[in-house]
Amino acid sequence: MYAPPGVKTNHNEFPIPDMMKAWMLGDPGQLGIGQKPVPVPKKAEVLVRIDAVAICATDLEIIYHGPPAMIQGGLPFNKGFTPGHEYMGTVVALGPGVDEYDIGQRVAVEIHAGCGQCKRCREGMYTACHNYGLNYGDVDKGHRANGFTTDGGFCEYQVNNINTLVAIPDEMSDEEGTLVVTAGTAMYALTELGGLVAGESVCVTGPGPIGLMAVAVAKALGAQPVILTGTRDNRLQIGKELGADAVINIRKTPDVVAEVKRLNGGRGVDYVVECSAAASAVNEAVYMVNRGGKVCLAAFAHEQVPVDVAHIARNNIYLYGIRGEGKSATHRAEAFMQQKRFDATKIHTHTFPLDDLPTAIRYAKDRVEDAIKVVVKANTDSAQKVAAE
Ligand SMILES: [Zn+2]
Ligand SMILES: [Zn+2]
Repeated sequence: MYAPPGVKTNHNEFPIPDMMKAWMLGDPGQLGIGQKPVPVPKKAEVLVRIDAVAICATDLEIIYHGPPAMIQGGLPFNKGFTPGHEYMGTVVALGPGVDEYDIGQRVAVEIHAGCGQCKRCREGMYTACHNYGLNYGDVDKGHRANGFTTDGGFCEYQVNNINTLVAIPDEMSDEEGTLVVTAGTAMYALTELGGLVAGESVCVTGPGPIGLMAVAVAKALGAQPVILTGTRDNRLQIGKELGADAVINIRKTPDVVAEVKRLNGGRGVDYVVECSAAASAVNEAVYMVNRGGKVCLAAFAHEQVPVDVAHIARNNIYLYGIRGEGKSATHRAEAFMQQKRFDATKIHTHTFPLDDLPTAIRYAKDRVEDAIKVVVKANTDSAQKVAAE
């Protein structure tokens, strides 16, 4: 029976085995299921029973290519590494010193627990921790980014620092709980732009999960108008349902910059949140904003991109990059979700059992049946597949 010294458990209500099921990354693209010891929470950490985990485009990058995951200072292959980072679950054990959360409490989790001792962590920018990935051997700074630098969520249990936990209400489904960190990333993008003021105009480029959540969060913050651009009509339609005042299919619109300006009374917008990673998107974004406007780059582009620096300088345009979900933005996003200010579940399309992770990954990767967010759950008995519509 799982009973590490100094760790509080409640085996009557939440029995914890010594070993758990876990998917592990072998060679690129190869995931195998096996057994691992249930991890042990240290000081200021809890053990979370993972109830649901969503697949993210970044998981696919990691599984097939490696980066941005970094395990023991290098590529994540053949090290017994368990990927997966967008999970939620139930607190089932408390490490030493934890009284902020109770056993049985449902939580969504942030990905990054910074080292807590570097300059950026002290500023709340723990997703840009200067000790990123330094969590092993004699360089151990205690940094964790679950599913990136430490084991993640494609398994049954994981440890999380209490600073990464966001309590969620019982009414929120497991699937919606996995989307708190997605909405939190969108919130962080808007926070880093200086905080949106109601009535300011926003264009979101790219209707992936973060782009769609950026639309929802911008609208909930009072933005007007909110414009969404993309190539797929079905996703643009979901953007409308999440609050976009106008959508532009860039395949059908020869001059997307002119169209964004037209939709905002001939002026550019105050903010652009770039979520497409398209090579042309950065210049389009700086042309879409008005003078003094701000652009947040939230997508990881694959190639280097030439940028019209003269236009940026002449027009006093601000360019920001963000990584992940810093400054406790997930708590603000969860507050909107708890108040039902938008329905994040509109981007959840499929659920599979944890044992069927390879199928779930195929759905996410090949966008089978227009998949957007595909979730796997350890505790579904049968191959239950939920279509959103
Ligand atoms: Zn992600
Ligand atoms: Zn740090």
